[in-house]
Amino acid sequence: MRRRRIAILGATGSVGRSTLDLVERSPERFEVVALTAHKNVEALAAAARRTGARLAVTADPSRLAELQDRLDGSGCRAAAGPEALLEAAASDADWVMAAIVGCAGLMPTMAAIEAGKTVALANKEALVTAGSLMIDAAGRNGATLLPVDSEHNAIFQCLAGSRKQDVSQLILTASGGPFREFTIEEMCRATPEQAVAHPRWSMGAKISVDSATLMNKGLELIEAHHLFGLPSNRLDVVVHPQSVVHSLVEFVDGSLLAQLGSADMRIPIAYTLAWPERMATPSERLSLADVARLDFERPDLKRFPALRIAREALEAGAGEAIVLNAANEIAVESFLRRGIGFCDISRLVEEALGKIAAPAPSSIEEVVALDGETRERASLMVSESCC
Ligand code: NAD
Ligand code: MG
Repeated sequence: MRRRRIAILGATGSVGRSTLDLVERSPERFEVVALTAHKNVEALAAAARRTGARLAVTADPSRLAELQDRLDGSGCRAAAGPEALLEAAASDADWVMAAIVGCAGLMPTMAAIEAGKTVALANKEALVTAGSLMIDAAGRNGATLLPVDSEHNAIFQCLAGSRKQDVSQLILTASGGPFREFTIEEMCRATPEQAVAHPRWSMGAKISVDSATLMNKGLELIEAHHLFGLPSNRLDVVVHPQSVVHSLVEFVDGSLLAQLGSADMRIPIAYTLAWPERMATPSERLSLADVARLDFERPDLKRFPALRIAREALEAGAGEAIVLNAANEIAVESFLRRGIGFCDISRLVEEALGKIAAPAPSSIEEVVALDGETRERASLMVSESCC
């Protein structure tokens, strides 16, 4: 059997490294053709050498010379910049992991879709900002989208080809993040170190902050809407602190199907890597007797307004989702640099939604324009509120 040819966009990140871990354990199944990263050319070159990748791309042109040096004699070509990222996405891979963080991943992910690849989609911000355009492009170009986000991957597994009319609702589980039991006052004093210390999952800094505000769950509602084609009133969220049940599907007959497993992204990633088959992973097996109990509670929208704001944006339309995402990216970056406080993140996002006109985009160019405008305006709001 021919090996599956793999490209990983965002290979040096948390999802990228988990993907490499699985791929490197099964060289008989997978051949790595292209890897990309932002600035960490040391890790990128090391991964390219280990896997025998043919193309390694840094998004930052100022790092090209260093990448070339590090790849000297390896047979792997080095390239840099936005065009090179698109080239990696549309290379001769069959399967592309879209694991760049933020809207920076939008154009490369679209390039993979337009090239008709099987796209394992971790980059939720791309789907939140351009979901309908992406789903349409996948249909037109014969691309297959496989959800990597653990909740959506769980739902995808539970649906297993069910008819849409047999599904009554999708239930996303949320761990509740590190501040699940904090008061509002405690949250407003929270530091970046506290916010990124997720109790269950080890992830990149941006998504960890999003998990602390519950904006992550809000982005995931929008993600679920696009991936599974259901409206907001058939998408629910329940807080489940143990992160054992990764999400559920309720069917019209009252049956609930759930996917359970340890909190290890290699399980959903492996499902997309081997799809439509399954493959073994080194992930810890779940012992239900050790887990002993599973708790569920409703999210508290007063302490975690981001979830309410994101649902309102989903219900308002595709333009609002772009503003939501871009303002959140700017606010989270500023919080991580200690420019604004934790509670300012949701406040700024809501303010941006109130101020910026957000017509639904009819092209990727319009998505990029509204994303850019929001970033500029949100950056101004950040500087006004922080100094
Ligand atoms: P991360 O910060 O650990 O890694 C991000 C990757 O993107 C890195 O390889 C980085 O080099 C690259 N990158 C960053 N900025 C870039 C830019 N401007 N241009 C090109 N490349 C750039 O992030 P992560 O935690 O791996 O998350 C990646 C995506 O997957 C996010 O959209 C996140 O929401 C989603 N996701 C992550 C997890 C998780 O467990 N980490 C779970 C579900 C979904
Ligand atoms: Mg998730």
